[in-house]
Amino acid sequence: MALTRRGAEVRLVARPSGLPRPEDFAIVEAAVPGPADGEVLVRNRWLSVDPYMRGRMNAGPSYAPPYRLGEVMYGGATGTVIASRAPSLAEGDVVLHSLGWRELASGPASSFRKIDTARAAEQAYLGVLGMPGMTAYVGMLTMAGLKEGDIAFVSAAAGAVGSVAGQLARLRGASRVVGSAGTDAKVSYLTGRCGFDAAFNYHAGPAAEQLAAVAPDGIDVYFDNVGGEQLEAALGAMRPFGRVAACGSISGYNATAASAGPRNLGLVVGRRLTIRGFIVSDHEVLRGQFEREMSGWLAAGAVAYQETIVDGIEHAIDAFLGLLRGDNVGKMLVRLPAAAP
Ligand code: NDP
Repeated sequence: MALTRRGAEVRLVARPSGLPRPEDFAIVEAAVPGPADGEVLVRNRWLSVDPYMRGRMNAGPSYAPPYRLGEVMYGGATGTVIASRAPSLAEGDVVLHSLGWRELASGPASSFRKIDTARAAEQAYLGVLGMPGMTAYVGMLTMAGLKEGDIAFVSAAAGAVGSVAGQLARLRGASRVVGSAGTDAKVSYLTGRCGFDAAFNYHAGPAAEQLAAVAPDGIDVYFDNVGGEQLEAALGAMRPFGRVAACGSISGYNATAASAGPRNLGLVVGRRLTIRGFIVSDHEVLRGQFEREMSGWLAAGAVAYQETIVDGIEHAIDAFLGLLRGDNVGKMLVRLPAAAP
């Protein structure tokens, strides 16, 4: 009979109101049976920490189904197959899956995708070469339809999605790329490693004034990760036929009441603006193209990326709260030990 192992997992046990609290989660030792026919067992190495997980903690609909109380925090993860009863995956294969924040993951082999760690580090498949990178690619190139000569503005620009979105605008011929982020160190990261022309710290003053200072001729494209005041500022700065890729609205994710605005939405008509919301998972058809192009850019050193790593599944909740506070530069990840102690 297959050996049953034990592994820690993080479960949601209460629905947060406002900012989540550690008491909303529990870390539990769960029994994980060995794989049945057609299944594999995986020891996770990297857990993805993502803003959309906040929406899934609410009872109401978000674009992903709500977590059930007592359920594991499902989400992206990678690890190594340690037992296989499926012909498509062998022990030692490194795989990507969406079974979330747990040390051990088991299930049908079809729930796991083998990844090529010669092409990029395992955890890059959760960041620049994974869902966030592809979100930037779809949003900037398809939704906003960035064209040569455009002036582009990206908010939450030092994060996993934003940092890539700005660099893609540059690679595709934007004449000016500007960004915003929550600390001066992030602003330096944007204008340094990520090659943005200018950036501002949105805590340092009104977004509209700071945007006008870094983009005095206005903007053609806004890649919106945050909503709220920065969306209003971006609409105000839009040139005729400008486009907004509406990717996220993190400034409101912990709000307990809906906020008003943007107050200048009327500009959409006169300036013939397009605001286009999108969800990356609707664009799976572009995955092959994205991975080919992004691998090429990474190999050529044309796209820079950074990771913020928190060690240990017992710190996954701190990592998530840190993400909401802006502790991360680039992709927020939790790293687990490579092998059982
Ligand atoms: P990030 O790596 O960008 O991390 C989140 C960042 O948001 C923090 O680092 C923080 O940076 C910033 N932030 C937090 N609170 C606020 C606030 N009140 N105002 C402005 N910025 C804030 O996360 P991702 O790159 O994974 O995600 C970025 C956005 O993209 C999110 O809105 C997310 O929901 C969305 N998304 C959408 C997808 C889609 O398919 N549409 C897919 C993936 C992500 P700072 O220090 O700068 O404040």
